[in-house]
Amino acid sequence: MAEALQSSLNNMLESNDSAKAEKTVPDGVETAISLVNFTGNDIEEPPFKKLRTNAHDRSLSFEDRIRPILSCCICLDLSTLSLFQCPNGHLMCSACFHHLVADCMLKDQESACPNCRCKISKRNCTRNLAVEKIISELPTTCAYCTHTCPRCEIKYHESETCPERPTVCEYSLLGCDWIGPSHCLTSHMTSCEYPKKTGQQLLDTIRIRKQKYDAEKTYLETALDLLLIHEIDANDISLTPMHTDDFSAKLYFETSHFKALECEWKVRVCINDHTSHPHTTSTRWLSYQLVLESNISETIKLKFFISKGPYSNLPALKFQPIISHFEFNENNTETEYIKLPISSLECNQILSSSSMKFRFWIIREISTASL
Ligand SMILES: [Zn+2]
Ligand SMILES: [Zn+2]
Ligand SMILES: [Zn+2]
Ligand SMILES: [Zn+2]
Repeated sequence: MAEALQSSLNNMLESNDSAKAEKTVPDGVETAISLVNFTGNDIEEPPFKKLRTNAHDRSLSFEDRIRPILSCCICLDLSTLSLFQCPNGHLMCSACFHHLVADCMLKDQESACPNCRCKISKRNCTRNLAVEKIISELPTTCAYCTHTCPRCEIKYHESETCPERPTVCEYSLLGCDWIGPSHCLTSHMTSCEYPKKTGQQLLDTIRIRKQKYDAEKTYLETALDLLLIHEIDANDISLTPMHTDDFSAKLYFETSHFKALECEWKVRVCINDHTSHPHTTSTRWLSYQLVLESNISETIKLKFFISKGPYSNLPALKFQPIISHFEFNENNTETEYIKLPISSLECNQILSSSSMKFRFWIIREISTASL
């Protein structure tokens, strides 16, 4: 198996040369493009040139020579995530790919492959499963000891079998905060004081745990109560990109009008709280706002929240909905922006899709006692 892998990789090394000979973009142009697009700073050598030098240095080990060929062409790292390729086969790790497409979305530009400048989008780029599998077979070293094994096995080693992996005391649930290498656990267990403590001495730890458990229970009960209320509406919303009409146009997303609880509404999503140039910051976040579009004469008290929904562009996205409260009246028709509890990477993944899809829940508060 190892031999077969090595020979197919050697073929890849050879065919990489012929692929480069067919390139339509001259090396100099490619270099200039890479510099302009990815660094903005002076760097010693462009990433592409680095790749080629390493791959042909026969004094390096086989793994070290194929590493740059299989690396992401933007961050030059071997991906631990999924790996995308442009229509011409240039590889980008998931984080860099989504960041690049999201950046261009924020700058209102079309995204292009950093190597060949062909247009890239979620629609025309595919994952390269073969390279993902080859990377998972490459050797790597444990973060805690000197053990080396294939990348696909390292997680199991580091979490289950490594003698140096950080381990907590078996009585950590009762409050012991000892953390040490796994091979020292047995000697700690013989001297740990926690099994000898009295119930009275353990009460504080148990009290803190109970508070946390009670808070989670209350949250679930509130959510269940809300779902049992008659006046509740769920809408599968789709937000499309728009631009503000001020001097430096800012990107935001908006739904068309939708009906819920006999009123018309829309939802707006902004990026990094409408800061001027979100593409210049590496951390991204999304916030949403509920806007009442109907005229009303009486105050409406609402609870509302946003959840993933069945048509999400990100099947793996997970977040716990945050329930918000607002009183709408003639003068108060827009809520504050509420931050979505998602990571910067997930934010880029959403931004790199052509639209955002969520499920939006609106609940009328009838009496506060029942909620
Ligand atoms: Zn990358
Ligand atoms: Zn390309
Ligand atoms: Zn180890
Ligand atoms: Zn202990």
